[in-house]
Amino acid sequence: MKKVLLLNSDWLPLNFVSGMRALNLLLKGRAEVISSGDKPSLWDESFTTPNKSYPIPATVRLLERVNRRYTAPRFKKRVLFNRDNWQCQYCGVKLDWTSITIDHIVPRCRGGNTSWKNCVASCRRCNMKKGSRPLSETGMQLRKNPAEPKVTHYWEFSYVTNWHSDWDIFFTNV
Ligand SMILES: [Zn+2]
Repeated sequence: MKKVLLLNSDWLPLNFVSGMRALNLLLKGRAEVISSGDKPSLWDESFTTPNKSYPIPATVRLLERVNRRYTAPRFKKRVLFNRDNWQCQYCGVKLDWTSITIDHIVPRCRGGNTSWKNCVASCRRCNMKKGSRPLSETGMQLRKNPAEPKVTHYWEFSYVTNWHSDWDIFFTNV
């Protein structure tokens, strides 16, 4: 079953929901189908009742903002790697579970902790090269400043089997 990307009223991704849930929100006037270019963001599927056919939206936006529940983020490898886009934060090489490592920017032996701000994804080569030196002594540079992850970094996208190209822009900067 194709999923619908539900955006909060501020255009930030909130969740993936079922087509039925999205149609329900639309019929209740709680959401709108967004447009991509000049076309409404739809799947090429419809939900048909005896009287009417409803196209299944691909992306809907809530008209009234909901506050998502925010829990203090716990450090998790997968979330860190999502945040860093599965890329070495020093050389930019693309990584997977077999090649990825965590680099402590301030090394643990110098009191660096395991936290969102002090950890980045790194390939083995860069991690070895940096060793236990502080970053300033290595001449190496981070591609971006490590920050707390966003809500979408916690998501597992693996259950979304059909990806709609209209969604790309909502995930490029996450
Ligand atoms: Zn690297």
